Amino acid sequence: MGIEKLMEGNQTFVENEYAENIEYYKALLKGQNPHVMMIGCCDSRVAPEITCHAKPGEIFVHRNIGNIVPPGDWNVGTFLEYGIRHLKINTLVVCGHEECGAMKALASKKSGDDVLIPGWLRHAHTALDTVEKKGEKPTDPEEARKWQSELEIENVKLQLAHLRTYSVVKDAEDAGKLRVVGLYYRMSTAQLEVVDPGRPLKVE
Ligand SMILES: [Zn+2]
Repeated sequence: MGIEKLMEGNQTFVENEYAENIEYYKALLKGQNPHVMMIGCCDSRVAPEITCHAKPGEIFVHRNIGNIVPPGDWNVGTFLEYGIRHLKINTLVVCGHEECGAMKALASKKSGDDVLIPGWLRHAHTALDTVEKKGEKPTDPEEARKWQSELEIENVKLQLAHLRTYSVVKDAEDAGKLRVVGLYYRMSTAQLEVVDPGRPLKVE
């Protein structure tokens, strides 16, 4: 396991996918032209290139714990600036997912010995407040799963609002040059659901 499995997987990729589509991969050397940019969760089960059946070069991806967009964050901000201004991508997605460990940690309100995670998750706190106002987490496991899912979806909405605190996003969206979309990956069915379709682009 570990690094050996990674190297073996790369060899399989080189011999199969890469070898069979060599022209496509050679063309990528000239530059990237992704059609969508996405902020998703680090969770290893929700890799967007796999769940959206996309090739390298198609999705410009930023992943972090809980698909969070802290206002004024250099890492997210640089991703946004590069994707919107330099790569000229016109679709920006925040994608949450079912069974998100970050949202579970947020709802548990236990930080344990963690030093950094609680500070990061505070940027999702408003989503928890919104869901808790409607009712506390139910004890019934099935109802609790639904509640958890609601929190994950509410977090997507909150992070869409945070995106608009970045002028590079707000200006492009107001000009009709950027569509900002919220998605939710329901792991139990592997389907993407639209949380917020965003405003349509203005055709010039
Ligand atoms: Zn997650």
